[in-house]
Amino acid sequence: MNQIESAKNNIITNEMEYCSEMEDVSAAQICQDIMNGHTVITKNRIRNIKPLAIGKNLKTKVNANIGSSGDNYNIEEELEKLFTATNSGADAVMDLSTGGNIIEFRHEILKNSSVPVGTVPLYEAFQPVMGNDDASLSSNINKFDPEYLFEVIERQCEEGVDFITVHCGLTLEAVRKMNRQTRIMGIVSRGGSLIASWMLKNNRENPLYENYDRLLKIAKKNDVVLSLGDGLRPGSLADATDRAQIAELITLGELQKKALEEGVQVMIEGPGHVPLNQVEINIKLEKSLCNGAPFYVLGPLVTDIAPGYDHITSAIGGAIAAGAGADFLCYVTPAEHLRLPSVADVKEGVIAAKIAAHAGDIAKGVKGAIEKDINMSKNRRAMNWEAQYESSLDPEKAREMRASLPLKDDKVCSMCSSYCSIKLNASFK
Ligand code: SF4
Repeated sequence: MNQIESAKNNIITNEMEYCSEMEDVSAAQICQDIMNGHTVITKNRIRNIKPLAIGKNLKTKVNANIGSSGDNYNIEEELEKLFTATNSGADAVMDLSTGGNIIEFRHEILKNSSVPVGTVPLYEAFQPVMGNDDASLSSNINKFDPEYLFEVIERQCEEGVDFITVHCGLTLEAVRKMNRQTRIMGIVSRGGSLIASWMLKNNRENPLYENYDRLLKIAKKNDVVLSLGDGLRPGSLADATDRAQIAELITLGELQKKALEEGVQVMIEGPGHVPLNQVEINIKLEKSLCNGAPFYVLGPLVTDIAPGYDHITSAIGGAIAAGAGADFLCYVTPAEHLRLPSVADVKEGVIAAKIAAHAGDIAKGVKGAIEKDINMSKNRRAMNWEAQYESSLDPEKAREMRASLPLKDDKVCSMCSSYCSIKLNASFK
């Protein structure tokens, strides 16, 4: 039995027990939330990793995207990004490789990752038709084979991938709806734009939507979580919360319900580029239209004008989103919109997303969240620097920064030196 089947039979699995301890939430509660589709546990049946629960009343989790591109495919570097991401606190990683030997990259990442691994199978399925330029892609796209896509999905699930992004809600009608309106950025999802191009060229329905039952059977076998992708997520603040985005979300809600009935765990992917004042309503819409399913958001980025700093624009949106109920944040690095992230970018991106997730957890009252901040404040008051470093999200950076300027008094730091208010406070107590 998989997690949902066990939950429907009121059986607490080992994975539920483990997640219950990690989250300080009763196993019975996690079991019920899995049964209702409000929580998922990401762990392929064949993988030997610690399971990760994502969903209702749980800590907000962070995903880091790694993987090659057509311009940069170095497996050692991607593995370094994997270790940097997990050492910095990423709860899951997605291998989004699109260049070089995609299969080999995935095998290495699966072999070396201690956390759940997600993929976007459309990337591998389209690789045989991708040429070296726009003209060859345009002429080759008709050669895309939906049957091959299902072979790829099945193979990836058998290899141990824990969750897959599948753009099942990107129907022909939703793409046409988008074309009838005036979006600035059109489709910014890579997988979404590939499958939509094929659909429009061939006047064919999305095979992931048309053959959803087949997809459910494949996912169910190894208990792979379906992450229903938002192919029509906005790529510009001006495109946020438009008819096309919401039309896709309504379809995703219907598909989530069907998956739950069939015993397949589902989370829903969300935007994207969203003005600050629309972030909360986007979370509420997803929870309402998708039956309370876990919401996995990319950012959201709350302004379009900060390339080089998009880990910050997304952390602002991510904190609001997490506070309003988003369950899983996909990190954004400073390299977003500019290049494939470096190892250093990966660390910056993970830490920024961890800050957003934690700030959201305080706002939504997740057990144990505010206590971490209280602990840090007490360590500050006690001028216990080692304990401050250990209470921080990036101890290495905190330690290095304080040590980087010479100190006359090692109780304080060089910010205020002899004017240190904390030291003065201690003296008049
Ligand atoms: S010197 Fe200033 S910044 Fe540093 S610990 Fe004291 S009050 Fe805080």
